[in-house]
Amino acid sequence: MITTPDYRALLETAVAEARQGLAEGGIPIGAALYHNDGRLLGCGHNRRIQEGDPSIHGETDAFRKAGRQRGYRNTIMVTTLAPCWYCSGLVRQFNIGTVVVGESVSFGGGIEWLREAGVNVIDLNDAGCIEMMGRYIAENPDIWNEDIGE
Ligand SMILES: [Zn+2]
Repeated sequence: MITTPDYRALLETAVAEARQGLAEGGIPIGAALYHNDGRLLGCGHNRRIQEGDPSIHGETDAFRKAGRQRGYRNTIMVTTLAPCWYCSGLVRQFNIGTVVVGESVSFGGGIEWLREAGVNVIDLNDAGCIEMMGRYIAENPDIWNEDIGE
């Protein structure tokens, strides 16, 4: 398996999750965990508002939906927004090999820390993700600050 996955195609799964979250009245952050071979292992979205649970971020939701895996080195965490410290910690704890982020303009998260640890971080700088998150933060600053612990 030498071919590079189409990261933008993988991002679409995370974007669909983010849109679903927004439609539910939640924070529009979605994520998907893929195997390097292209298999979707799990996907999910932030459900802080829907479930009243601050621990359900897009990444943790996708990770849990994927169930038990033998290892994560050959997996790709795809997320619409750069992962926060909590989710970056998850990536390092389980040695997820690659992280694809839709954007890091709205929030830089832990991506430099992940790179320093040798994680392959790909920032797609996606205009649609920037627009969706930027609008949400502008319209809901209190909810956003709660989500990032500020
Ligand atoms: Zn997070």
